[in-house]
Amino acid sequence: MTKSDSTSQESTWTTKDSSSLYGLDRWGEEYFSINDYGNINVHPKGQEGQSLDLVHLLKELKGRNLKPPLLIRFDDILEDRIKKLHQAFQNAIEKYSYSNKYKGVFPIKCNQQRHVLQKIVSIGQEWQLGLEAGSKAELLIALALVDNPQALLICNGYKDKRYIETAILARQIGRQPVIVIEQYDEVERIINASKILGAAPLIGIRAKLSSQSSGRWSTSTGDQSKFGLSIPEILKAVQTLNKANLLKEVSLLHFHIGSQINDIAVLKNALQEAGQIYVELIHLGAPMGHIDVGGGLGVDYDGSRTSSSASTNYSLQNYANDVVATIQECCKSNNIKEPTLISESGRSICSHFSILIFNILGTSAVPVEIPPLANNESLSVKNLRDTLNALHDIYESKTVDISKLQEAWNDALKFKEDALASFRLGFIDLTTRATAEQLTWACAKRITTLMKNSSIITEDLKALNAALASTYYSNISIFRSAPDTWAIDQLFPIMPIHRLNEKPNQLGHFADLTCDSDGKLSEFIDNGKAKSLLELHSFKPNNDYWIGLFLGGAYQEVMGNLHNLFGSTNAVHIRLTKNKSYKLDHVVRANTKGAVLEAMEYDSEELLEKLRIASELAIEQGNLKINDAQRLIEHIETSLRQSTYLQE
Ligand SMILES: *Cc1c(COP(=O)(O)O)cnc(C)c1O
Repeated sequence: MTKSDSTSQESTWTTKDSSSLYGLDRWGEEYFSINDYGNINVHPKGQEGQSLDLVHLLKELKGRNLKPPLLIRFDDILEDRIKKLHQAFQNAIEKYSYSNKYKGVFPIKCNQQRHVLQKIVSIGQEWQLGLEAGSKAELLIALALVDNPQALLICNGYKDKRYIETAILARQIGRQPVIVIEQYDEVERIINASKILGAAPLIGIRAKLSSQSSGRWSTSTGDQSKFGLSIPEILKAVQTLNKANLLKEVSLLHFHIGSQINDIAVLKNALQEAGQIYVELIHLGAPMGHIDVGGGLGVDYDGSRTSSSASTNYSLQNYANDVVATIQECCKSNNIKEPTLISESGRSICSHFSILIFNILGTSAVPVEIPPLANNESLSVKNLRDTLNALHDIYESKTVDISKLQEAWNDALKFKEDALASFRLGFIDLTTRATAEQLTWACAKRITTLMKNSSIITEDLKALNAALASTYYSNISIFRSAPDTWAIDQLFPIMPIHRLNEKPNQLGHFADLTCDSDGKLSEFIDNGKAKSLLELHSFKPNNDYWIGLFLGGAYQEVMGNLHNLFGSTNAVHIRLTKNKSYKLDHVVRANTKGAVLEAMEYDSEELLEKLRIASELAIEQGNLKINDAQRLIEHIETSLRQSTYLQE
């Protein structure tokens, strides 16, 4: 390919190319697309519904002084996800003529934010969607928010006396809490509480299955897992509850084989095992009636439809079909009534609806411009120039000789080493050393261009791309806004939300605002694999370059921390309106600097007063002018009221 060819290719770059490059056509099919302006379009009600230009929306939000970093929550997407989950189970129930129903619960720990949960509960009314609590604080939320007597409240997690008594009493105000026995010692506690209150709770039993999931959450089940009763413990629990006359309240079998199940085969095994335990519980005299298959319904983050960790080898419909069909099979062959099916699908409901948008503050990369020719250049610099010129003489084609490139790179490294040695010995000056380094990078750059079309590339040369990559400085803290990328190497789709009709001509990764070398985004989806560099556009100072992190609505916000005292970003809830427009339902303000300082036990007023006294002293000593002192105090006062992120 010649130079002119490559320019013509750039001009024929289309939004389709961007869509396939970033995998948007795979992971974003329902809710995201790219419009003719090269911007991301959001389709909160699926591809058939009305859409919003994300960039246009951001500009209007900017007009309301809501600037990136910003979390945008599309509540219509949340609604669509809830609808799709129920539809999938409804379809499966019809397909197999299953004689009972599906009743979901949303696990609160996925996103405890009040506006989000309120929305989920109100959207879920139609299907009697309940909540799952894993702690006493979450139980309080569940009891207060869900007043539909048909909706279930699944009580998981460690339970003390107060937790259990609260759940028993809540039954008497018309709630439906099911106390799921997760640890054997809860049996005695439930019996005691029932005696004290003279009332019984609905009881569930969580089984420790031997079927184990693969990947990250594989230890959520199996003999060594934290929660659930082993088979001998289940038997013992049944006998003990029977003696206490509580077996008649045992109505639910629960299991959870871990979040993000990648491989559907694992789920099938677990369902078969749980189905058999369910049958045995009925034979032992428990009335039962419900099987709760836990969480784990995965999200296809990279759209590859594989069993790799960022994906799932099944669809929502496959999942629902397998749950319904497997449980039905088990009931049929044992001639028992088909139970109500429950899932605790969190990730699948609340991942898609929120997008984190952050702006790029600047970039840095090794300098690759060719320095102008100087008089009497040193030998090492001359040698580097010759190497570079020879590289420029090579024709860009598919059949480029890789060994030649490797040889040229070896030469360049040798000449650079020569230049460094000369510098150490005082033979060349700083300017000459800079020239030598720049020429070396120019060689590297030329080599990466030449090897673009080759399929076989040596490891040495592969590393050049990474060495030449740009760092994009980003106005976020990954510890606050995307902690799983750091903690468990979770991959999210990350891509620019505009300029998508323009060929991205840089390779880069993102560095965040924290002074922590782990504060970066440097793993990106790659259709079933991961890559360390992302194709990006060249950054133009004074122009917005907005990047979106997608599918991050589950777990991220609450797991985020205040590392370096970066707090939450602004968050907005967007709802579509009938006139093809939208409305801002809620604005959840970012943590101010005052708030994060307070979280660390500081008193803003006191800090301010200390600085005021110090500035008065400086005025007195003639080191600070009065108006500068005033300016300093004003900066601090304003800063305390503002978010922790960089302002324009
Ligand atoms: C975390 C958790 C869930 C939610 O899992 P997802 O994979 O997000 O759906 C459900 N049930 C239990 C018991 C959990 O611990």
